[in-house]
Amino acid sequence: MKNILQVNQVGKTFGPKNNQFKALSNINFTVNEGEFIGIMGPSGAGKSTLLNVLSTIDSPTTGEIFIDDENVVQMREKKLANFRRNKLGFIFQDYNLLDTLTVKENIVLPLALAGVPAAEIDTRVKKVASKLNIYEIFHQFPYQISGGQKQRTAAARAIVTNPSVIFADEPTGALDSKSAADLLKSLQMLNSTQKSTIMMVTHDAYAASFCKRVVFMKDGELSTELHIGEQSQKDFFQEILGIVSAYGGEENDTI
Ligand code: ADP
Repeated sequence: MKNILQVNQVGKTFGPKNNQFKALSNINFTVNEGEFIGIMGPSGAGKSTLLNVLSTIDSPTTGEIFIDDENVVQMREKKLANFRRNKLGFIFQDYNLLDTLTVKENIVLPLALAGVPAAEIDTRVKKVASKLNIYEIFHQFPYQISGGQKQRTAAARAIVTNPSVIFADEPTGALDSKSAADLLKSLQMLNSTQKSTIMMVTHDAYAASFCKRVVFMKDGELSTELHIGEQSQKDFFQEILGIVSAYGGEENDTI
């Protein structure tokens, strides 16, 4: 199986020299093509920092990150911008859709920016729209649709470029439970049918139970790792809950 993400000795320090804070240390792991991996851990554990560093939004203080065999840490900004656009997909908690564009235009945008020919744009956009069930809202603007629809639009925009990895930071954080479940099923479907590699940060054990592998973080380091293996999603959920409560429970995760 192809190794799509390789993380070697990554560390991230914030703050001036006399007052430094180590948000990440000794991060090492690999992700294979087609994995659906969750990152969990209490508030302040470093989940978002890790996702930002892996997704090239922020740079690590130490270490190497290879995505699709390219070292993104050393990449210059211009090349990195292209790399980000062509190889990475993003889904954020607050959707990040452009308010002045329709749903369809939001999905078309990354393809247009990448110079994909119009006929192919049409084919690809239709395909993701039917997969994510957003045809009926194609010509609406973000303010006219629900949170769940916005996030499905964001998922369509993330997937339409066929990225090597999709990074999702608390994608269900602003959704009601039904919309959250719908979105997670969509991500699961994109992972199984399109072999999309997805890395999702979540503090929610139920959301994490949709992943095939869940990595836990504590104090800026990776700790336990769970695999769904042959067990049911329900049993995996229970297993994840066991670790979450050992960490002090998500009820306390309010900072
Ligand atoms: P999580 O996503 O697990 O809640 P974060 O990655 O947001 O954790 O934060 C990890 C730690 O790094 C926290 O203590 C946070 O205050 C700190 N941190 C994050 N971003 C910055 C920043 N830009 N400047 C200083 N400290 C930061």
